[in-house]
Amino acid sequence: MTDFAIQISDLRKTYAPTRRITGKEALKGIDLNIRTGKVFGLLGPNGAGKSTLINILAGLVVKTSGQVTIWGFDQDVNPRQSRASIGVVPQELNLDAFLTPREAVEVQAGLYGIPKSARRTDEILSRVGLSDKADAYARSLSGGMRRRLLLAKAMVHSPPILVLDEPTAGVDIELRRMLWDYIRELNTQGTTIILTTHYLEEAEEMCDEIAIIDRGTIVAQDSTRNLIATMDSKTLVLVPETPTSNLPALPEGVRGEIRPDGSIALTYSRARLSIQAILDALCGSGLTIADLSSEEPDLEDVFVSLTSKHDDPD
Ligand code: ADP
Ligand code: MG
Repeated sequence: MTDFAIQISDLRKTYAPTRRITGKEALKGIDLNIRTGKVFGLLGPNGAGKSTLINILAGLVVKTSGQVTIWGFDQDVNPRQSRASIGVVPQELNLDAFLTPREAVEVQAGLYGIPKSARRTDEILSRVGLSDKADAYARSLSGGMRRRLLLAKAMVHSPPILVLDEPTAGVDIELRRMLWDYIRELNTQGTTIILTTHYLEEAEEMCDEIAIIDRGTIVAQDSTRNLIATMDSKTLVLVPETPTSNLPALPEGVRGEIRPDGSIALTYSRARLSIQAILDALCGSGLTIADLSSEEPDLEDVFVSLTSKHDDPD
């Protein structure tokens, strides 16, 4: 066992230009250490570089520079051991259309040099709920079934690290639940899980730790709980007795907004202001309050504050 399942240092990737696409610096010096035993989330908007990072771990994309160590094995020094330590479920649903799930899992096991006697094909297919489709052609499988088959293929060599690139993108709620349950169970049994997602809800529910990546750079890394705690803002929502289009006078540092439903949202810094100071100011304003509630920040606020909304030119 190593302390860190993955260690990445100053990792860079620039895609070479082609006739159609100009060269793209997709990763700009990533430093990332992922502790063994975690469910780790790599979160970022589209085009941030998540798949590039995952595909470098998987050995599918060649890095431009930097160091990648998987389960203690430097990717360049011990390519075989580092590859054997990781299973990757890619984002693209690329499968050989003419293989059945059983054949696809067998072929994969062969690629990893697993002797026939040690293969667990039926067990793996059953774990991902594909037993009754074991002998159907891959081209006849639904999107959700293909994703499960990719998961089965990633598990043939029982790797200590499982990486899933957008595992639940485009899958229905039921399958998402099933995948989450399965991923959690693998983690409980000791597998380190790394998943990328742009669903904040998924990251918040599944991940112990999160790194946020934006335009090829890690902009934050911490436990999910700490990341949310870094958001100091809090919002107080008032429903006035009679509708108003004017904001009451507010203490300095409070941002007021009248929402479409007529409520008044007051956002303030928990560190700098107390709720009492705000209520005192409201009392003096003559506003009659019919109802009062408060909103805590969530991962979405963290995400929005750290990743600038932008249109990527490509
Ligand atoms: P994410 O998975 O976070 O959406 P990607 O890693 O797929 O991001 O892409 C990061 C950037 O690299 C994007 O700007 C994307 O257009 C570019 N990119 C990805 N793959 C290639 C490729 N094969 N050739 C050229 N550019 C690429
Ligand atoms: Mg991607």
